[in-house]
Amino acid sequence: MTHHDYDLIVVGAGSGGVRAARIASELGARVAICEMDRLGGTCVNVGCVPKKLFVYGSHFAYDLNDARGYGWSGEPSFDWRRLLENKNREIARLNAIYFELLERAGIELFRGRAELVDQNTVRIEGAERTATRILISTGGRPRRPDIPGAELALTSNAVFTLAALPKRMLVVGAGYIALELGSVFCALGVEVTIVHRGEEILRGFDRDLRCHLHNELEAKGVRIVLETQVEELRKRGPSIEARLDNGDTLETDFPLFAIGRTPNTLGLGLEALGVELGTRGGIVVDDDYTSSVPSIHAVGDVTDRVQLTPVAIGEGMHFAHRFFGESEFRIDYRNIPTAVFCQPELATVGLTEEEAWHHCPDVRVYRSVFTPLKLAMSERKERTIVKLIVNAEDDRVVGCHMAGHGAAEIIQGLAVAMKAGATKAVFDATIGIHPTSAEEFVTLR
Ligand code: NAP
Repeated sequence: MTHHDYDLIVVGAGSGGVRAARIASELGARVAICEMDRLGGTCVNVGCVPKKLFVYGSHFAYDLNDARGYGWSGEPSFDWRRLLENKNREIARLNAIYFELLERAGIELFRGRAELVDQNTVRIEGAERTATRILISTGGRPRRPDIPGAELALTSNAVFTLAALPKRMLVVGAGYIALELGSVFCALGVEVTIVHRGEEILRGFDRDLRCHLHNELEAKGVRIVLETQVEELRKRGPSIEARLDNGDTLETDFPLFAIGRTPNTLGLGLEALGVELGTRGGIVVDDDYTSSVPSIHAVGDVTDRVQLTPVAIGEGMHFAHRFFGESEFRIDYRNIPTAVFCQPELATVGLTEEEAWHHCPDVRVYRSVFTPLKLAMSERKERTIVKLIVNAEDDRVVGCHMAGHGAAEIIQGLAVAMKAGATKAVFDATIGIHPTSAEEFVTLR
């Protein structure tokens, strides 16, 4: 049998890669990991974590205003640079934790760009190392528009190092990143305009929630332009002018494109080895995360499937157990809960009403729109929506949706109930916690 330097070399130390490396190492494999950037990948450095810190930071704009209704007074002030510095410090702390985790697990870390030389050899900064298996977990990067002036377009990465708040921001797209960052900057006083090619924001989510959120975002001051595309960006003095396909132009300081993410497969030498890539450049893998070359595997965003951190982590665990252990850990892609941390936040698990009508012979829909008690004494008129979708044939709850304060925390719990196969009767038999927004889910009749 050929001797290799390692049992596993992981290329990319993000959420999926690090988890796979750690589990494989715990299971006795000799593991190395390489990373050309900071440890932790998109989630830790330019994604979930700094975004959520920005969400918390910006939301105080509303909370401090609400506080007046509760007797508080005084003029709070906001310091963008302090938020940025504290965010950077927290991210550096997480980078260090990732380093310690790898070190403690006995995983060798190589810094630098990796390239595959053959199906068992990785070249990192000129040095070649071999492994029985290679796992590609290089993630993705924001997609850039293909329009004249595209070089003027900024992507979500730029937001996390922005020196000063812009006055006006143009956000193109109406998915996760567009709405999350659009909400953050709107709360911080930036004039935000969202330009979206579709007929409503958040394609793929439940229509009631899409419309609800559209209204709530507009009520907060976000301008939403639908069925419109940006055709060109042009420098105009200190500003940037966007030419729209409806004939209008729009001046902005910060054109942010949030139009999806592209898998990081370029420059890895994959095509030369015969690794099959999908139409959008993602590595095609089977149910065990093996590519068309049996010793080369891939998990996470680089496979261009479900682009969510917990999914990448689950895939990394599945891969490590499958090839270095004995247990049959499998990730279940059904009913993945997810949240969009816009303001108000939206969270969902299971089928939308539209999907349920497609999949179930008969459907019952329960819905409630209300003002949460916390806002009863505030000037904020934000409404919360909760919605349950039930398969009328067997009474099973097949979809839970919410937009409003705490939606992500609440839906996470309901996702467990749905995994356990809860029926509407089980929801009805559950005692509510009063007064909460969550209790609405067990009092819907
Ligand atoms: P996204 O959620 O897929 O949204 C992309 C948006 O851009 C959609 O509104 C899409 O419109 C639009 N779009 C796509 N191509 C376009 C084009 N050529 N011109 C104009 N508009 C275009 O993508 P994202 O917001 O960039 O985020 C990427 C992924 O990261 C997400 O899908 C998600 O999986 C993950 N993510 C998750 C979280 C979270 O868990 N909270 C947060 C951020 C990101 P259509 O609807 O018409 O296609």
